[in-house]
Amino acid sequence: MSFSPLTEALNLLEEQGLRRRRHVLKGPQGARVMVGDMHCLSFSSNDYLGLANHAALVDTLKSAAAQYGLGAGSSHLAGGHMAPHHRLEETLASFTGRQAALLFSTGYMANLGIVSALVGRNDEIFADKLNHASLNDAALLSRARHSRYPHLDLSALEKRLAASRARRKLVVTDAVFSMDGDIAPVPELLALCERHDALLLLDDAHGFGVLGRTGRGVLEHFGIAPSERIIYMATLGKAAGVFGAFAAGPAELVDFLVQRARTYIYTTAMPPALAAALSTSLELIENEAWRQARLRQLIAALKQGLKLERWRLMESITPIQPVIIGSNKETLAVSEALRKRNICVPAIRPPTVPKGEARLRISLSAAHSDADIARLVEALNALERTL
Ligand SMILES: *Cc1c(COP(=O)(O)O)cnc(C)c1O
Repeated sequence: MSFSPLTEALNLLEEQGLRRRRHVLKGPQGARVMVGDMHCLSFSSNDYLGLANHAALVDTLKSAAAQYGLGAGSSHLAGGHMAPHHRLEETLASFTGRQAALLFSTGYMANLGIVSALVGRNDEIFADKLNHASLNDAALLSRARHSRYPHLDLSALEKRLAASRARRKLVVTDAVFSMDGDIAPVPELLALCERHDALLLLDDAHGFGVLGRTGRGVLEHFGIAPSERIIYMATLGKAAGVFGAFAAGPAELVDFLVQRARTYIYTTAMPPALAAALSTSLELIENEAWRQARLRQLIAALKQGLKLERWRLMESITPIQPVIIGSNKETLAVSEALRKRNICVPAIRPPTVPKGEARLRISLSAAHSDADIARLVEALNALERTL
């Protein structure tokens, strides 16, 4: 049985080196994973702090499941808002230094919900070209005008803001760009938003737990005081090691999202035990700041060790360290060659990144050892010369 238009489309993807395949993990996430029958040194997760398989989180999950059961059974507004959800929201608000926070089931849903609640037909969204797919989809869903400016180009953004006649203006940006690892210039973006009366949505999926001395994210990194204009959003499935996402900001904004964010209203609340485990995760991030320091050491070791000529390591101070290779097929070949050495680094190809900029996306974790980094560095240095 085959449906020929799909067969053709799949064959075309295969020819272009763009067909994606999944690898099945047979054990927990971590610096070392079992992929099928293979032991793998992994540089492919967003578990930046090594918390995804932390015993304290698993223990909290078990005891919370014993107390609250597994399913929330309902949406937050219709009777599924349970004590662990509420406590986590309060903790997230104080952790990020904002008045209030609202829990979503995923970052993708948070972005859809926040953006489409805040802007509509007569409004305009100003978005960095390299923003995460969920922010682009959110803009489409909102029906607002979607004005995408070149990556980090503040003067292009300012021109568009100045020219806009929109009723409400919303600037949206990844705080840390997920495929490049660079950081948005948040103080300058905020100044532009003030000058042009716009709101600023920061998606700190990759900064939360990582950036700033105590892991509070991009606002701590830049030392930015809470502003009424900033809607802070971050995910809880990356550095926080579990699942979910949240929006944080002024109490009024959060109350408005409760009324209007459809991906909050029309969906089942996350299992309460996950929310309880997340509270434990935040305690660990708060009390064990060695993880952020450790990450910084590992990032420095990688940068120092790689001696690349044809390939190029991007400018990034975050645990996302992309190596630009260029062609889809060569990138795939390098990823495969690493895999043969039991090292897993994903090949990222268009449309996730622009054409001609296929890359290895190395992501580092506080759980990596110095020897792990040395092994990756040696393998890449050798492969660049022989492939
Ligand atoms: C991962 C990611 C999301 C989506 O978060 P999920 O919780 O995985 O749905 C949103 N924005 C950015 C920048 C991301 O990297």
